[in-house]
Amino acid sequence: MVNVQNAIRREAQMQLENKTAIVTGGNSGIGEAIVRRLAQDGANVVIDYVARPDDTADLVKDITSAGGKAVGVEADVSSLDGLRLLIDTAVREFGRLDVMVNNAGIEKRHSLLEADEETFETIISVDLKSAFFGTQLAAKQFITQGGGGVVVNVSSVHEDWPMPGNISYCVAKGGMRMLTRTAGVELGPQGVRVVNVAPGAVATPINDATMNDPEQREKLESAIPLRKVADPSAIGDAVLFVASDAGRYLTATTVFVDGGIMQGSVGL
Ligand code: NAD
Repeated sequence: MVNVQNAIRREAQMQLENKTAIVTGGNSGIGEAIVRRLAQDGANVVIDYVARPDDTADLVKDITSAGGKAVGVEADVSSLDGLRLLIDTAVREFGRLDVMVNNAGIEKRHSLLEADEETFETIISVDLKSAFFGTQLAAKQFITQGGGGVVVNVSSVHEDWPMPGNISYCVAKGGMRMLTRTAGVELGPQGVRVVNVAPGAVATPINDATMNDPEQREKLESAIPLRKVADPSAIGDAVLFVASDAGRYLTATTVFVDGGIMQGSVGL
């Protein structure tokens, strides 16, 4: 009986106490939900952003007024300088880095035949290069400080599921799939885990056009076995699971958080 009570008490403890996390693209949509969830569970959070500084300031205020710790940092993660600034800030402000969430992403729809070099390179830089070097620089920091660490790459069902008319995004997310698998295998012996969290359709600004069109939204939701677009908090919960001790045996793989859409796509 006493053991069960102790176990229940242990479960109730915050899962990321004394850990530090970076969340790229952390002041909106899925990134914001991840920041809130990790901070709620005790993590010190470095919130990366490139736009809307007021939203970042509000988010930092929400977290600190609830007793948590967070700082906002303006950094473009498509450049290594931007990524280095985030890691340097985590170490300077909180002493170490434990969780790197590569979440920033953009989408510009086009088919292969419509694609141009500049747009392709922009999407690959923001969506894939940022995760590649974010994983590398975080892993170097984990190894230098000791004690392991976790990289969570926010990919998409489109890491594995073609979307005609959105090819550069699919190529970037497909690249993240093999980044995570290969880096996870390379870094496992050093205690560094690398895991993709792959959302299906989530109600965030990236999807405003579909969300604000009742006909499009109905069509999308009827193709999802759970019959609804996800709230961003569902992705925040999955990232917490992966980043915490509960996810300790996950690496070099993908957790799909998609309401079953990849298995029930007929009708889309
Ligand atoms: P969002 O547009 O709210 O979030 C993207 C964030 O990335 C924004 O905060 C944006 O400012 C930031 N960003 C863009 N370029 C950046 C750069 N160069 N440096 C730093 N930050 C930059 O949309 P979201 O839906 O929250 O997207 C978050 C992630 O989830 C993306 O990687 C996206 O591909 C992925 N995703 C979203 C969905 C969905 O349905 N919403 C589905 C699957 C995957």
